[in-house]
Amino acid sequence: MTLAPPSPAGTAMDALAALVADGDVVVLSGAGLSTDSGIPDYRGVTGSLRRHTPMTYQTFTRDPRGRHRYWARSFVGWRQIREAQPNDGHRAVAALQAAALLGGVITQNVDGLHQAGGASDVVELHGGLDRTVCLGCGDVADRAGLDDRLRAVNPDFGPRVEEINPDGDAELPDELLDGFVMVDCLACGGGPLKPDVVFFGETVPRDRVDGCFARVEGAGSLLVLGSSLTVMSGYRFVLHAAKLGIPVAIVNVGPTRGDAKADVRVDAPLGEVLPALAARLCG
Ligand SMILES: [Zn+2]
Repeated sequence: MTLAPPSPAGTAMDALAALVADGDVVVLSGAGLSTDSGIPDYRGVTGSLRRHTPMTYQTFTRDPRGRHRYWARSFVGWRQIREAQPNDGHRAVAALQAAALLGGVITQNVDGLHQAGGASDVVELHGGLDRTVCLGCGDVADRAGLDDRLRAVNPDFGPRVEEINPDGDAELPDELLDGFVMVDCLACGGGPLKPDVVFFGETVPRDRVDGCFARVEGAGSLLVLGSSLTVMSGYRFVLHAAKLGIPVAIVNVGPTRGDAKADVRVDAPLGEVLPALAARLCG
């Protein structure tokens, strides 16, 4: 009697479970973790779900009209962000953390869903859409409060149902966007206000990057979830781990830039892999 060889996917899952069971896992998550929650890639790193040209820091800071249109689209898109719920992948990460298997969570996502799913001590590498920062005075404020103020001065602004695409993105003509009314910073009366996220062309604050490097250096392994690692802001942690001999595992549908550096590679949906992993390790 001969035993059937294990399936390749099974082997990769076993290797992943063994690595995570060793503990001190630092998670680096990307947009792929939130797609099951209906979140398009708002920051536009991958661009695949994004219809409009991604906003750059340069355009946002130098082009008042471009900035105005950004806020008009954001006003509409915020409803989708606000209503998004964490998915099984987020909850599985929180379960692994509760089982004391994680050494930290670094996310490239700006949707706050790790925290909503029960994770704590999450480093938001690219900031969070739930806050705004005033480029004039530096005041950081709550996005929900801004939304209340925007609703008050834009009671009738918004797309009709037929103008919303299946992915929730509002296809608003520029003339309509110009009718949007933006508000000023409550702290200084000026502005401009910017979402507290890192745009294209903007660097991640140095202390935040250094904090992430320190976490990676203390990690038993680095687990990449749902990122193609296209941008260097995340990929550099994979390079750093690999250089230090810290094992790297990547769970993502489709190839990633870090595949050559990965010790374990699982090419399967996070919504299947992570709950199975948590069930196996958190009992
Ligand atoms: Zn201000």
